[in-house]
Amino acid sequence: MKSYQLFNWQTRPRLVDVPQPTAGPNQVLVKVGGNGLCHSDLHAVDDLTCCPPHLDIELPLALGHEIAGWVEALGPGVQGLDIGQPCAITIAGCGQCVLCAQGWNNYCRSRGKQVGMGLGGGLSEYVVAPVSAIVPLRSLAPWQAAPLTDAGLSSYHAVKRVLPLLTPGSSVVVIGVGGLGHLAVAALKAICAARVIVTDQRPQALELAISMGADLAMLSGDTVAQQIIDATAGADVQAVLDFVGMNSSIQLARQVIRPLGHIVVVGRGGGSIDFSPHGLPHGACISSTFGGSKLELMELLALAEGGGIACHVERHPLSQVDAVFDKLRRNEILGRAVIVPDDH
Ligand SMILES: [Zn+2]
Ligand SMILES: [Zn+2]
Repeated sequence: MKSYQLFNWQTRPRLVDVPQPTAGPNQVLVKVGGNGLCHSDLHAVDDLTCCPPHLDIELPLALGHEIAGWVEALGPGVQGLDIGQPCAITIAGCGQCVLCAQGWNNYCRSRGKQVGMGLGGGLSEYVVAPVSAIVPLRSLAPWQAAPLTDAGLSSYHAVKRVLPLLTPGSSVVVIGVGGLGHLAVAALKAICAARVIVTDQRPQALELAISMGADLAMLSGDTVAQQIIDATAGADVQAVLDFVGMNSSIQLARQVIRPLGHIVVVGRGGGSIDFSPHGLPHGACISSTFGGSKLELMELLALAEGGGIACHVERHPLSQVDAVFDKLRRNEILGRAVIVPDDH
């Protein structure tokens, strides 16, 4: 089968022919129907930050961790899935720690290698996943579901973190409306009544956000904090979702958040914040996230299957993956790029 593999760290992966993998005990072989490209894939290649260092990743390795497809074969011990059934792949927790018991598989205490992050990924024609990572699909095509498993799920989880604050009459600011942020806008409009204000440095991204239902869109710049403060007089900013994570975006968030508000930093832009009791409005908090839970993915897929959310997707065949990665690196993808192995 064709597979896009990383042979050495900090070198360009290559599309190669490799043997098709087989499903071991409690594993499922999935025929890939779509794999969304993620900035974490670039981090994996460029600065090795996608995988915790203790995991001791062996190369070569297929990249790609935003995957949906069809069940192709079941390993020994797997029951309850049909061959040919469409499915998505999510993060597998250990299933035994207290966080897994609470349903927070994405925050599992002993989260090991994941598909596409230490285990062979979805930029291949076939991929093997643990059965605990499989989430069946109903009406969504795999290429539509794939970007929801990471871009969509990370956004949806951030929204769920602040949802109790987003009452009618409140405002929420989304910083950065790329692959993740545009889905946060759609999720916010689908499940809460808050006014959604977006900011981004790209006019096309703002247009996309408005098409997803954003109420107010502002180009990034020195005056954007004051514009947000002026626009929200009487409807305070209860929450900020920062999909950039640079010093400038975190600074913007702390300038506009109200007392008791919540800033969620999802983007991995390398920014940081010094804490002091006067560094944020009283009672405000700031948190980071990692992905989302399996239950949240099920909710998000149900929302998408009901027409409540859809990722803005550009599809490309596996043969074009190199060029699409370059486009991602140049920040030229609007929404999410999904590699569809069967497309020609
Ligand atoms: Zn990712
Ligand atoms: Zn666990």
